Amino acid sequence: MSNTKLNILLEDILNNKINSYKNGKVANYIPALSKVKPDLAAAVMIDMSGESYKVGDWNYKYTIQSISKPLVLALAIMELGEEAVFKRVGVEPTGEEFNSINKLVGHPKPFNPMINAGAIAITSLIRENKSGNSFDIILKFFEKVFGNKDVEFDEEVYKSEKMTADRNRSLAYFLKDHRIISGDVEKSLDLYFKQCSFKVDTLDIARASAILANNGFDPINGNEVIPEKVASLVRSVMLTCGMYDRSGSFAIEVGIPAKSGVSGGILAPVKNRFGISVFGPSLDNSGNSVVGMNILRKLSKELSLHMI
Ligand code: GLN
Repeated sequence: MSNTKLNILLEDILNNKINSYKNGKVANYIPALSKVKPDLAAAVMIDMSGESYKVGDWNYKYTIQSISKPLVLALAIMELGEEAVFKRVGVEPTGEEFNSINKLVGHPKPFNPMINAGAIAITSLIRENKSGNSFDIILKFFEKVFGNKDVEFDEEVYKSEKMTADRNRSLAYFLKDHRIISGDVEKSLDLYFKQCSFKVDTLDIARASAILANNGFDPINGNEVIPEKVASLVRSVMLTCGMYDRSGSFAIEVGIPAKSGVSGGILAPVKNRFGISVFGPSLDNSGNSVVGMNILRKLSKELSLHMI
């Protein structure tokens, strides 16, 4: 398919799916997130030669939220190795909502790193080292995966989440009690709230997605950002656990590894083909972007992206 044809297809799909935002709701459990316009929508694709295709509100900035989870997972494995990471977190889907506490009772090792309990445990592993404090280590890694030296931080969303995070706090203290988290719980939580509050646009997330799709190499500048094995592991965890309690049906229907966030973004890498990212703040009741999922469904069909 030629470049122009792909742009036209993407534009068409976005225009066709944009009204489906009416079938969902913007997240409001973090008060600052509820201020967004529900009908924003964007899609970006980057192919393996580094060419990008951008439609809709692709440069609208939103907070990364749970899309940070696969990226911080990659970082933690790079910093500490697979064994240390998977001693604390499993790789099995839960079939439960993203901030569920149910499955931890009797099984304190979080099922996977894509749900809040698992992600908080992973974040607690990122510790100060010679290249800086834990916040700077995450920021520098995000700058690399987004190919963007000006990654900003949303103070309002960060504070809003920190003040209302009773559920995440209870997950973290439970994990500390069971020695899954060591050290200062509030410090780990604070870092987790901060990692969720970096501002990104759909192009930034598409770049990270393209790096994961291209086996860890940035297709735009050729740099190796993530080791190949880690990129493959992260894609696999996203395929089975990235869309929370919709992960199974999404994998069957769309067949692309994906990670959603409650501000409406989705990162979806198609191995050796495209880094895709979609955005639309209106969510289904599992916390996944309605418009974003619809765009991915259609793209998967039109471009035969289903991996199975
Ligand atoms: N910061 C959010 C939280 O912990 C992220 C959740 C999400 O994007 N699903 O609740």
